[in-house]
Amino acid sequence: MSGWLKIAGLGPGDDALVTPQVRAAIDAASDVVGYFPYIARIADRPGLRRHGSDNRVELDRARTALALAAEGARVVVASSGDPGVFAMASAVFEALEDGPEAWREVDIEVLPGITAMLAASARAGAPLGHDFCAINLSDNLKPWALIEKRLRAAIEADFAIALYNPRSASRPEGFARLLGILRETCEPERLILFARAVTTPEESLTITTLAEALPEMADMRTMVIIGSSLTRRVAARRPLIYTPRSAP
Ligand code: SAH
Repeated sequence: MSGWLKIAGLGPGDDALVTPQVRAAIDAASDVVGYFPYIARIADRPGLRRHGSDNRVELDRARTALALAAEGARVVVASSGDPGVFAMASAVFEALEDGPEAWREVDIEVLPGITAMLAASARAGAPLGHDFCAINLSDNLKPWALIEKRLRAAIEADFAIALYNPRSASRPEGFARLLGILRETCEPERLILFARAVTTPEESLTITTLAEALPEMADMRTMVIIGSSLTRRVAARRPLIYTPRSAP
């Protein structure tokens, strides 16, 4: 049987949010490759080889997956959320560009998943109901100056802004800087959503204002959504926010 490589998104956490397409790929796989916590979400079964690896070794992981598939294995590379959003799909294509010619013959497919910003947005109402953008706050792969430039442009354009990787223990200062920039440029009533571990048993949602937001409200399991100037609360059974479909 000839090999293949499917780069699959496991969604935000809840098994009910894994697509049937991704489930079928996992059932048909001979090998699963991914960051340890994501591999842990895939049930063990006889005949399935598991290749867990640490964070920050995305290119090595991608090369392992391509090499296995080129040798005839049926490989699933697992990401959380969607594999194309700050995740493994780009890493696989980077490895492919620099890799041996034979890898270009591998049958590669990207299987989408529900990305964290969409899961967080759904839990909190509809903060992404009008124009929005997504920014990865991690400065592992790009300089802070670029993050700040994009952030200021997004605020100026009045997008709602979804922030991935907002704050890690090793570099907590970025998110505090971001709050400082928001305070220079936005009104204190601007709504901010902190959605942590969405759709898992540890889920917590906090809807607050820029005036009351604290850096400690975010960690690496948190999705932060900064509302646009039009994002507002709506009276409902539980606290919800939304951005109207039209802008003046
Ligand atoms: N490919 C993933 C994103 C990887 S970056 C996706 O599409 O969702 C990792 C960041 O995603 C985390 O730092 C956090 O900001 C966000 N994230 C992932 N899962 C989450 C969840 N269940 N709840 C809240 N944020 C989550």
